[in-house]
Amino acid sequence: MKVLVLNCGSSSIKYQFIDADKEQWLAKGMVERIGMTGAVLTHKRYDNHDIKIVGEILDHSIAIEYVLGVMLSKNHGVIDFKEDIDAVGHRVVHGGETFSDSVLITDEVIKVLQENIELAPLHNPPNIKGIQAVQRILPNTPQCAVFDTAFHSKMPAKAFLYGIPYDLYKKYKIRRYGFHGASHLFVSKKAAEIMGRNYNELKIITAHLGNGCSMAAIKNGLSVDTTMGFTPLEGLLMGTRSGDIDPSVILYIMGKEGLTLHEAGTLLNKHSGLTGISGESSDMREIISAVKDDHKRARFAFDVFNYRIKKYLGAYSAAMGGLDAFVFTGGIGENSPEVRSEVCSDLKFLGIEIDEEKNRNGELIISSADSKVCLLRIPTNEELVIALDTKQIVEKLQKDKSIVNLKV
Ligand code: ADP
Repeated sequence: MKVLVLNCGSSSIKYQFIDADKEQWLAKGMVERIGMTGAVLTHKRYDNHDIKIVGEILDHSIAIEYVLGVMLSKNHGVIDFKEDIDAVGHRVVHGGETFSDSVLITDEVIKVLQENIELAPLHNPPNIKGIQAVQRILPNTPQCAVFDTAFHSKMPAKAFLYGIPYDLYKKYKIRRYGFHGASHLFVSKKAAEIMGRNYNELKIITAHLGNGCSMAAIKNGLSVDTTMGFTPLEGLLMGTRSGDIDPSVILYIMGKEGLTLHEAGTLLNKHSGLTGISGESSDMREIISAVKDDHKRARFAFDVFNYRIKKYLGAYSAAMGGLDAFVFTGGIGENSPEVRSEVCSDLKFLGIEIDEEKNRNGELIISSADSKVCLLRIPTNEELVIALDTKQIVEKLQKDKSIVNLKV
């Protein structure tokens, strides 16, 4: 089965066309600057042939038309007919409390996603736009939604409740949801596979460190806690997001600087984190290079970033009553030996010992022979998780249909 995986953002769409049976991508790319001047589509085929197309791409529908156009094209494409796309899988950021698993998209599901917009005002509207565009362009192709929140939906109440009046949780569904679910699931399963151990008997901590960063505590195959919360703002320090902060600080700044709710949101989401502390960049490569040049604030940013990961490593080991494996993933986790080294330093008492040579070489297992905890560096593949979930749902649908037909 061939699945088109779509990740629709407010002004961009990332896509991957995946042969879900062979677990291989056939084409991937991105449309950027949707609705702006200079919109551009970059497309890459499995044989590394690539192309860049600049066009007037006014909305998500036109962007998806462009994607299909290039996938169908004689010179750059991978399919002969639209019907060669067996299913479409969407990354949907917020499933709220309704969705604890991936689902087939129906009108009812779209209605619930619309009701959940308040929980993810930046993310769910473009996700819905992408789904509706595909409904128009590929009306007979089944679509599935795979939620960032789903993997964390079985967290115990002690991990998801905030210390606010319980009525507010019930009334507004204010609780920890957690995000990056597909990534945490993928790399934790992969870790068990690499270790040759039973996934359902392991205590694993995963650190997804990209522009957004989160950690998850995964006990016996279930996410039992995670650092992101009601929104993807809580927890670790990120490129431009503050992560954990005393809530009073926000009220204090709003009072002092006369900020509106919207402005306070922008401050915490766009001007904080590595950017805010360093005053230099949200990009970890630039932070590390500034640290090497003795840039004082870049050093503060680098230290806060690593220290927070280290603190959660301790916290989650305690939460699970032990630790078998710790996994780094995401752009920073996969590519920065400096971050991995700092985070794992001085943790021998927890059974964590990094092998610096393996770490520098970027090997899959980077722990020393004496380390009780297996340390891993695993490239994430959220798109594959989405493609495989979609395949499973659609195959079940086809099977159910054929059973009904047989009965008829
Ligand atoms: P997103 O969350 O948008 O998917 P990525 O997972 O691609 O982002 O991660 C982007 C981050 O990865 C940036 O901070 C970037 O600096 C960092 N990164 C990429 N390569 C390296 C590297 N070699 N060393 C350190 N950081 C890196």
